Amino acid sequence: MSDASARLRELPPISALLDDDRLAGLLTGRRTLWLTRVIQGVVAELRDELRTAEGPILGREQLLKLAVDRVVAQADALMSKSWTRVLNGTGVVVHTNLGRSCFSPAAAEAARTVALHNCDLEFDLPSGTRGHRGRQVEQKAALLAGAPAALVINNNAAAVWLAVRHLSRGGRVVLSRGEVVAIGGSFRMHEILAETGCTLVEIGTTNRTSLEDYRQALEPGTTVLKVHRSNFTVEGFTEDVELAELAELCRGAGCPLVYDAGSGAFHPYAELGLPAGERLLAEDVAAGPDLVTCSGDKLLGGCQAGIIFGSRDHVSALRAHPMRRAFRVDKTTLAALDEVLTAYLRAEGQPALPTLDQLALSLDALEQAAEHLRRELVPAAPSGWSGQVVPGESSVGGGTFSATRIESRLLMWTGPKAELERCHQLLRLGDPALVGRMNQQGLAVDVRTIAVAEMDLVVQAFGRAWQTMASNGSGKDG
Ligand SMILES: *Cc1c(COP(=O)(O)O)cnc(C)c1O
Repeated sequence: MSDASARLRELPPISALLDDDRLAGLLTGRRTLWLTRVIQGVVAELRDELRTAEGPILGREQLLKLAVDRVVAQADALMSKSWTRVLNGTGVVVHTNLGRSCFSPAAAEAARTVALHNCDLEFDLPSGTRGHRGRQVEQKAALLAGAPAALVINNNAAAVWLAVRHLSRGGRVVLSRGEVVAIGGSFRMHEILAETGCTLVEIGTTNRTSLEDYRQALEPGTTVLKVHRSNFTVEGFTEDVELAELAELCRGAGCPLVYDAGSGAFHPYAELGLPAGERLLAEDVAAGPDLVTCSGDKLLGGCQAGIIFGSRDHVSALRAHPMRRAFRVDKTTLAALDEVLTAYLRAEGQPALPTLDQLALSLDALEQAAEHLRRELVPAAPSGWSGQVVPGESSVGGGTFSATRIESRLLMWTGPKAELERCHQLLRLGDPALVGRMNQQGLAVDVRTIAVAEMDLVVQAFGRAWQTMASNGSGKDG
């Protein structure tokens, strides 16, 4: 008999797990239905592993114990929440992998209220008849952007698709080769465009596209798309066309123009000391494209959404588009976005939104926060570790201000590298988790992206990690 079949002979049948006492407490009532599927999965997984296993052959009892342990662990995980709160010590303010912008308390409260209760989502209270979803939210967005009308949908990727699909109707779409961009892992501009059914006509070169390139490509039935270069910069021998110039050319030729503004800055970021990398959305709208699209959860500081701005006619047509239904947002998104836009409308200066607040933090405030953490943590730090407040750099993130680094303050831990790495891992496995940055010097926590109210949680997170390290023998396992 081969080694593999000798191993496989010991694999417990599914019935052995279903009858096992250790699973009896779990396998009750309706839970049995899905737990049986989990058991089938675990046994199949073990079978695969045994086919290629090496080393001593495990007996039936050992394998049964292994399988039961796995089922219990999977069942525990499945019956717990599947996300973990994260304390963001990365210094990346709009961190796409950590959920981009945080809601303001007011936005969270608004979302919570409509989540728990009914609301006038598509109901006109004065007349008692059917109303139109999102009307006031869209009115607020349009007013802030200086556009006649706006439509809120699921995200900017959907906004670009819908805007291009509506205007091009499967015809030619002209796009500069310098703007065939990828945003994150899954948004590749030419792929989105292919899905609109249009024929993509690339013009110019990666580094240079002129007004003349556009002029030559324009013919009746052509739509032009211009995309903000969010997450990269082109330097050196470059040429680009101003949005206003392009809008004028397109108007003259009778060709519609869509502008994907990416982030959607509603606040003048220059006021926060950021360079002029991101224009105000209102400036993009004023430049005159037929439709402008942006994200809701980047520099706007709101929730995941895509907003399309344009004339009343275009926006009404977009609203009536069959795919709009597929891209629509739910009531919690509308409520949160409404609260965020209201904050912009109410504010005489800067609205109170976490994304803006974090970008506006002074060096003094950052120094104080980092110093506070240092004082709290240093006495409890493992021996051989040193914690210092050092200058560092945050970034805006979310594919915005890609070349910009903002001066910040870090709590920097130096010490044995394996211990620092083990600690960072334990911090990531905590609840709430803490994600910092490991670099040449050591383990850094950028305090810009940690709220004042979270400082105690950071102290506790380090305390837990250090305690685990002390009881396991630091830096060894894991
Ligand atoms: C971020 C971004 C998108 C995608 O926006 P989502 O809201 O994440 O769908 C599209 N275009 C540009 C230029 C962007 O920066």
